[in-house]
Amino acid sequence: MPVLVLNSSLQPLSVIPERRLIVLLSKQKVTFVDESVRSLIEESIEARRLELERPVIVQLLANVRVPRVALQPSRANILLRDDETCQYCGKRSRDLTLDHIIPRSRGGTSTWENLVASCKHCNGKKGNRLLKEVNMRLLRQPRPLSQEYAGFFLLRYPKLHEAYQEFILSAHGGSLREMSA
Ligand SMILES: [Zn+2]
Repeated sequence: MPVLVLNSSLQPLSVIPERRLIVLLSKQKVTFVDESVRSLIEESIEARRLELERPVIVQLLANVRVPRVALQPSRANILLRDDETCQYCGKRSRDLTLDHIIPRSRGGTSTWENLVASCKHCNGKKGNRLLKEVNMRLLRQPRPLSQEYAGFFLLRYPKLHEAYQEFILSAHGGSLREMSA
């Protein structure tokens, strides 16, 4: 089970393998967000058998400055942002294409704002035309995926993602839940 590392500000930083957790613990760089996990993990490290069954979240004791990295609108990143869902009809598929909203032949560029995941059917239907010309619309306005976007890499680890969301909710004393209600 991979381990989620949060900055001391609680912003997700990275996902690391268990081996790396042992190093961070021995250097006293991190603390557990759930103290009840600590003894369990310390015991298993002593027994040299660290097999984490449930998601583990640790927090850095000192905040690190994270340089802002501009992510490229690559095929993989666009599909991740769009949750592998066609942005025209909402169909989820492993077999998606990238569509230029404003076609390249009409001056459209390969940017975060102009690229969306599209199923082959919708892509074919749209062809080299503008949305208004074919009476199609986007499910949502495409935005750049930034490193700030809470744990963009977490999308690849559903269990950790879930555990992180639960942790953030409890850290805010349920105020987020009230806000969204
Ligand atoms: Zn579609």
